[in-house]
Amino acid sequence: MTQDVRVRFAPSPTGHLHIGGARTAIYNWAFARHHGGTFILRIDDTDPERSTTENTLAILRALRWLGLDWDEGPEAGGTRGPYFQTQRSASYAEALVTLRASGHAYPCFCSAEELESKREVARVKGGYAGYDRACRSISVADAAVRVEAKEPHVWRIAVPQDRGDVVFHDAVRGELSFPPAALDDFVLVRTDGTPTYNYATVVDDALMEITHVIRGDDHLSNTPRQILVFEALGHDVPTFAHLSMILGADGKRLSKRLGAVSVEAYRDDGFLPEALLNYLTLLGFALDGDTTVFSASQLIEGFDLERVSKNAAIFDAEKLEWLNGVYMRELTPEALVDRMTPLLIEAGLLTSDEALARHDWLVALAPLVAQRLKRMDEVVPMVSFLFADDVEIDPAARDKVLSDSHVSVMLHATRSAMSDVEPYDTTSLEAALKALPEALDVKPKALFQAVRVAVTGSTVSLPLFESLELLGRDLSVRRIDAAIALVDAS
Ligand code: GLU
Repeated sequence: MTQDVRVRFAPSPTGHLHIGGARTAIYNWAFARHHGGTFILRIDDTDPERSTTENTLAILRALRWLGLDWDEGPEAGGTRGPYFQTQRSASYAEALVTLRASGHAYPCFCSAEELESKREVARVKGGYAGYDRACRSISVADAAVRVEAKEPHVWRIAVPQDRGDVVFHDAVRGELSFPPAALDDFVLVRTDGTPTYNYATVVDDALMEITHVIRGDDHLSNTPRQILVFEALGHDVPTFAHLSMILGADGKRLSKRLGAVSVEAYRDDGFLPEALLNYLTLLGFALDGDTTVFSASQLIEGFDLERVSKNAAIFDAEKLEWLNGVYMRELTPEALVDRMTPLLIEAGLLTSDEALARHDWLVALAPLVAQRLKRMDEVVPMVSFLFADDVEIDPAARDKVLSDSHVSVMLHATRSAMSDVEPYDTTSLEAALKALPEALDVKPKALFQAVRVAVTGSTVSLPLFESLELLGRDLSVRRIDAAIALVDAS
């Protein structure tokens, strides 16, 4: 690419970052990084009622959590700022002066009621073809006097009368053509002086020297209008790339039930940012024919708009879970400890001092956890049995496993084996306990399940011998004693 690539992600802070927006951000970021260009974050906060600072901060947080960094924008600064649309009124006003001087914009004094009745008449006649350009014939001098006198007005674009089809080449969808009949002299600036989306976006994209507009195809119908504004401003039209919709497994628009939740909700549900980034990228992009799992740097290396699909993508929650599991298992024990520790602290299982003191112990625990983990939110329930003195035995497990008439004998034998074994580690424990079923003439499964329930409280848990070692002799014996008391009392 000869020109320096400059792309932007321009969320409206009317809500948190959802997965559709996150995918748009990822593609922009990957495209910029691939070309050594600039990734700009612009906050389209022009809707005063629905835009909040809280949402803006949540969007920044979610982008950072995903590993996306921006070169210009909030908190990063940059020479083309400000990066909040509400702070850019001067630019919109200045551009309007230019458009007015070149005859590309004119004031329209038609009231809302007038416009509505014209629309009604047109509808009856067969189809509303847009604003009838009534005010375009007012002379520039007369219009200036009325504007000066503060007569309520909007500013409209003067679409060239001889404008042919608006044709552009979309980097994803190919050549697209819109007949000018569908493009009336639309409003650029409202009566209250605020810019419309199509106007503000183009002024910003022009001043920020955006070279590629990569966004969701819900904006496709805005694009011909935006092209007209670029032309009116005498500015080069950027390349557009419209991303197809993400659909739910039912083939309909993504609903809350089928995955349309915020990026931060995925974080809270225990997904790893690398896995979510990888998964969202796959919703419309293929690195090659068959690579499903790839890192951010592989994505940057291989990102190409030519490989972005124009077909709708289907959000598959199971595939995301699977991919998350793949990333979980790839974490080194140290990396998993880094991610587990805050969760353990938050759950009250450890203090930060204890986490430091027990670092090696946590590193030994990590591989056992990694094998069974699909999501980080499974960590706390999986390991909590290791942290208290006593364990609460799941009633169903007790009824199923501890009701066997031989359980008391099995637990007594286990207790004495545990007391004697040296050292108290996985290998010695395994050797000592594996000898018991034969000696007692019971089924191995019955004995090990009884020990498991006694020590962990549940029939499903981390591997038994490793758990006993991590728990230590004292706590293991204490729990066996508690289970013996429970069994003997019933
Ligand atoms: N603020 C717009 C949105 O969130 C930006 C659209 C665009 O990229 O032009 O949909």
